[in-house]
Amino acid sequence: MIEREVKLKLKSPSLEELEKLLERRSVKLDEEVQEDIYFNYKYRDFKDSDEAVRLRKSNNEYELTYKGPKTGNYGKSREEITVRISEKDVQNINIIMERIGLYKAFTVKKTRKNFKIDSYIISLDRVEGLGDFVEVEGQDVTESQLKDFFQKFIDDFQIKGEVTNISYLELLLRGYDKSK
Ligand code: ATP
Ligand code: CA
Ligand code: CA
Repeated sequence: MIEREVKLKLKSPSLEELEKLLERRSVKLDEEVQEDIYFNYKYRDFKDSDEAVRLRKSNNEYELTYKGPKTGNYGKSREEITVRISEKDVQNINIIMERIGLYKAFTVKKTRKNFKIDSYIISLDRVEGLGDFVEVEGQDVTESQLKDFFQKFIDDFQIKGEVTNISYLELLLRGYDKSK
């Protein structure tokens, strides 16, 4: 219910090199091709309210997610509610969204490779138009546990990059330069 994660724009090693290291030193989970449609709302701008409504296609599965405003002081923590949707319901979900005033604002595409170390999921993300990122999400951990794990993780794997609180969507909307 509470999502706690840190996002880093990867400088080094390369995503491929980091993947090889993680294959040796963590538990490999699934690989996903994700297409996310973010909605905005006629009656309240989600950019201002810091909320998100998203329809995600991940490989061949669909899910609908609500995210609440960010809280806390480190990384990103927020309420997250997700429901699975069967393919045959996607069309009707889209119609319901439209009827109540939710409209499609932007699409984000990426590939995501997931790994697990202890209670943490490490995602290697290659985002179309943005470049390579690493996300670390803690399951049932406190902000300070996430912070400590993340610090140790980047030290152990000698990861260089820039930690950011900015979402993929916002980075794309800003026309973020991936050469930076
Ligand atoms: P997840 O961690 O759930 O797999 P993700 O890693 O693909 O998601 P993030 O960048 O972590 O993507 O989160 C999506 C972000 O998009 C949210 O932080 C949300 O606040 C932001 N967002 C949603 N709608 C808008 C909007 N209309 N304008 C700007 N930002 C938005
Ligand atoms: Ca994320
Ligand atoms: Ca997440």
